[in-house]
Amino acid sequence: MVRHLVVGDLRVQRIERKGGWRSWTIVWPEGTLHAEADRFLRGHDGSGTQKTYAYYLVDHLRWLERECLAFDTVQLRDLERYMGVVGAEVHMPLGEPWRMGKRPYGRSALSTAASCLKGFYLHQSSRGVNVDLGGKLDGTRLPSRVDRHRSLLGHLKSAMPTNPLAPKGPHRRHPKMLPDGAREKLLATVNSARDRMVVTWLADGGLRIGELCGLHLADLHLRENAACGECRAPHLHVCHRPGNPNRAEADTPSRPPAGAPCEARRSRVGAPPGRPSPWAAGPGPRPAGQCGSAWRGGSPGDASARRARSSTSRRPRRRV
Ligand SMILES: [Zn+2]
Repeated sequence: MVRHLVVGDLRVQRIERKGGWRSWTIVWPEGTLHAEADRFLRGHDGSGTQKTYAYYLVDHLRWLERECLAFDTVQLRDLERYMGVVGAEVHMPLGEPWRMGKRPYGRSALSTAASCLKGFYLHQSSRGVNVDLGGKLDGTRLPSRVDRHRSLLGHLKSAMPTNPLAPKGPHRRHPKMLPDGAREKLLATVNSARDRMVVTWLADGGLRIGELCGLHLADLHLRENAACGECRAPHLHVCHRPGNPNRAEADTPSRPPAGAPCEARRSRVGAPPGRPSPWAAGPGPRPAGQCGSAWRGGSPGDASARRARSSTSRRPRRRV
């Protein structure tokens, strides 16, 4: 690792790739690549996680610079101290203040930062740098009843990974949902058909903001028995499509292989069965062969069920 006298000027750099894909990396003030960070972030290439981790990691790397700590000498106690200066409850001297004038991380941000740091130092450890620290971060514990209940084939689990940097205490048990009556109040407040559609589709379809903003006209199959043949009721397709002019992107875990069809998901929209859809005069059929399908929404409980599933995911996501 190259040591620099310049403090706090590491920055996140967005890289525009062919086909509209974007990647994020970390560079030194003079523009050269931060090799260790770049190697770690490349493991999440093309995903929203890469961007999130880049911004969490750059803050940590700036702090390391200020503390004059190198990757091969940093200890678990130093990482705990870092978590303390960004907002975690840590009972030890924290040293000089950090992120002056900014709000401390909340619980969710602390969890993400902890995952990012664990991933980064395990990656370093796998390359033979600071193996001791990697061993301390890579602990396991016995699964609890809640863990078994939440996991697929949970009854077979004998150990769960732990992260000593993650915030302690009980996890949030329920996903964040709109309070009762909020949808009606929102609908009464908005004053355009577009905004009413946004509120209705976010609530009914369980769409995320990026998914809604990234829709193309061809993705809307608002007539019954659309030509795609994948769903008889009015529905829409959510495609992982890079290069949207408004930069909206449906969340995707990783970049699909070149030449692969974009992954699509269908979510039912429109009026409940038995009532005509207000968007019945929608666009024509979607171009055939553009998308496959992976998931189908539909029943009224789908939106909440999907958010509940999302809440157990460890990937940081923007939720609606
Ligand atoms: Zn369709």
